[in-house]
Amino acid sequence: MTSLDTERSDSPHERVSAHDARQWLARERNARLTQLDAIEQSGQKDADELMAAQTVSLRRVLKEIDHAEQRLEAGKYGVCEECARPVAPERLEILPYARCCVSCQKKAV
Ligand SMILES: [Zn+2]
Repeated sequence: MTSLDTERSDSPHERVSAHDARQWLARERNARLTQLDAIEQSGQKDADELMAAQTVSLRRVLKEIDHAEQRLEAGKYGVCEECARPVAPERLEILPYARCCVSCQKKAV
């Protein structure tokens, strides 16, 4: 193995590189943490039902991000948890913590 940079591989089913995935996950985490911070600092967390609900959903997303990072470390990132097919990179860019592909997601709803 001489290739240190595997980011630009031309595999037919273009898998997302770990490098990209890490960046996307970090971006999502930072965005959520910023939102959480803003809610905490507004002092409305316990007063406002909507804020409370939002806090819960932000924490849920942060857990999903943790989960995605564990899968990334395990080398399973970008593979649907339902059908084991690769998840489209476009989907992962928008939703980097997605656990499954679009068609499985639709089935789940
Ligand atoms: Zn699937």
